Amino acid sequence: SIPVITIDGPTASGKGTVAQRVAEALHFHYLDSGALYRLTALSALRARVALDDEPALAQTAAGMRPSFRDGNVLLDDVDVSTDIRAEEVGNAASKIAALPAVRRALVDLQLRFRQAPGLIADGRDMGTVIFPDACLKVFLTASAEARAERRYKQLIDKGFSANINDLLKDLNERDARDANRAVAPLRPAEGAYLLDTSNLTVNQAVEQVLGWYAA
Ligand code: C5P
Repeated sequence: SIPVITIDGPTASGKGTVAQRVAEALHFHYLDSGALYRLTALSALRARVALDDEPALAQTAAGMRPSFRDGNVLLDDVDVSTDIRAEEVGNAASKIAALPAVRRALVDLQLRFRQAPGLIADGRDMGTVIFPDACLKVFLTASAEARAERRYKQLIDKGFSANINDLLKDLNERDARDANRAVAPLRPAEGAYLLDTSNLTVNQAVEQVLGWYAA
């Protein structure tokens, strides 16, 4: 079957960057599953769907036709790559991600990314729920401080304003929500390799994942 490498971990652990670089190195497809939760949140915010209206949110998720082109995310042919990165959207995404019907509505969309020659799937439940048969599962972590700093830099680079203490608080809240929810809680999949990137460069983390894959 088509090989899948899953890379799960908490917010701003460096997953996205590492996963994209591994995908490039192997010429594999790349799934940013968090983007699907962010797209659902953005669509819901725009349509003024309440963030606790589970059936309406699931319908919003199921009705989206996003496309992914050259690292950009498009919704109805409009590039929303920047919009989905806003903190407000990330927070809303983390709230609606706790709703089982929303998660179910996004399963097929995620499975369709599994195409030859292979897939790197980045998220929270890639190894535990969506691709349990992955040939390599990685759980990426980093200290809360390292993650807040990375998130800060990302936001500033994208032209958003940010405050490091607010970010640390947001990260901790989001981690607690992801880890404690009833469905697909964030935890390492069985057999996952743990990778703490607090003191690693992106290159070192990428080399480690490629090394595990080759072994
Ligand atoms: O990874 P990212 O920060 O873009 O994800 C946004 C939110 O979507 C996360 O805070 C998390 O709650 C949720 N998520 C999820 N399962 C995934 C990917 C993201 O619950 N596979």
